[in-house]
Amino acid sequence: MSGARPGVVYLVGAGPGDPGLMTARALELIGAADAIFHDRLIPPGALDGAREDAELVYVGKEPGRPSIPQEEIAERLVEAARSGRSVVRLKGGDPFVFGRGGEEAEALRAAGVEYEVVPGITAGVAASAYAGIPVTHRDDASAVAFVTGHEDPEKDGTALDWEALARFPGTLVFYMGVRRLADNAAALIAAGRDQEEPAAAVERGTMDGQRTVTATLGTIAAEVERAGIGAPAVIVVGAVVGRRDVLAWLEQRPLHGRSVVVTRARAQASGLARTLRLLGADVVELPAIRIEPRTESEEVRRAVAEVEAYSLICLTSPNGVRLLFEALAAAGRDARALAGATVAAIGPGTAAALSAHGIEADVVPDRFVAEALLDALGAVEVDGRRILVARAAEARDVLPDGLRERGAEVDDVALYETVLEEPAPEALAAAAAADYVTFTSSSTVRNLTEVLGGRFPNGARVISIGPVTSETAREAGLSVDAEAERHDIDGLVAALLADARTR
Ligand code: SAH
Repeated sequence: MSGARPGVVYLVGAGPGDPGLMTARALELIGAADAIFHDRLIPPGALDGAREDAELVYVGKEPGRPSIPQEEIAERLVEAARSGRSVVRLKGGDPFVFGRGGEEAEALRAAGVEYEVVPGITAGVAASAYAGIPVTHRDDASAVAFVTGHEDPEKDGTALDWEALARFPGTLVFYMGVRRLADNAAALIAAGRDQEEPAAAVERGTMDGQRTVTATLGTIAAEVERAGIGAPAVIVVGAVVGRRDVLAWLEQRPLHGRSVVVTRARAQASGLARTLRLLGADVVELPAIRIEPRTESEEVRRAVAEVEAYSLICLTSPNGVRLLFEALAAAGRDARALAGATVAAIGPGTAAALSAHGIEADVVPDRFVAEALLDALGAVEVDGRRILVARAAEARDVLPDGLRERGAEVDDVALYETVLEEPAPEALAAAAAADYVTFTSSSTVRNLTEVLGGRFPNGARVISIGPVTSETAREAGLSVDAEAERHDIDGLVAALLADARTR
């Protein structure tokens, strides 16, 4: 199946919240669509892969605020498709499970608009699985029912058949069931369901900060109230809940319960954030820096026009690689323009970015700092040669200065600038309570301290990617608790894990 066809609406499930649980088809369509209409409960970063020129429209319901009526959403989908665009309607979980996807599909059919449905992993299955509760089990449950808890008061209630649910021979999973939990549990018991049956509430299933409370059907409402569990949560009733004692796994990951601030440029934060999340950490992404390309500048234009004149080209970040190739493309050039030059990359990330453009770096140092690259270039003849150092505007001068000392004629060209971005208030609040702060470069130190100012989390342990970054952190008045031995993301994660094990 190809990308997204014009004039078609795709009703797409975004899964329960963990970005890793989005389907390949969902990601493909998000990357291809002209317009995306999305809800509130979609995974963080779900729209990162959208085209830059795609229209992103938020049509979700905000608790306590007037929401866009369902008919209007359907009308806007019809309108967008009729204007010849490819349209993604992105919903949490599965679009056809309590997602009103059925109603939207009916409206599209009535309007003669073609649609496709892309299922998503529904919360009832996913939240349970992440809580270590199998919704069916050979010994405990041969059936599972998804039931609405009717939390949405706007919905006109087709009253639930509590007698039937009480007799149901299997697991009951309630969606939208927190607010009415006490009433619903009482109704089930009154209808004959055993009040001693195990029950669980799973809040924010598969997302950062997932919480699970277990009790019995008779006590679950009180326990949920006591723990302050709120939406989104599913309530699971059935013997399978007892399996969690043995099967819980989420809480056993190495960084479970630790919150970690990740400060990287937006485009690069995801790798580190994802790795930490997979280890169980609650990640606070403060994209304190953003890449501002300078590829339109005169110096970049000149360097690209004369690129064949360089005998050595040094690249110091994946962003630099991306922007160099963008600048080459803008000038109608491609990788062949670099054919005659020796190409040096500061580290494996940069080398991988080059490799993606068909260039295998000739030089990659063992340690990924400018000094090490300079050392690694020791065997390369530079005297009297023209060299291009393409990098960030604010980078240190170690590399160009060192090469000049060896007689080279160095063009030190800024491909981009990293600029400060003000974080969202929720991110700031989460950062204030963090257990760890990670720094991946000196500019992340400078920017985070500037953005947080006096709000830097006092109790947080600081983990740095390497000596230069550590030095900058100390200059900023911070103490560095651990420093990566390998100066890359894996090294940083290893240092954090080692620190976490001791505490
Ligand atoms: N279409 C969605 C359900 C939408 S109804 C799906 O298939 O999952 C909204 C309800 O779904 C919430 O009230 C809650 O009960 C449940 N829900 C959605 N995401 C959840 C999550 N991450 N963890 C627990 N419950 C969730």
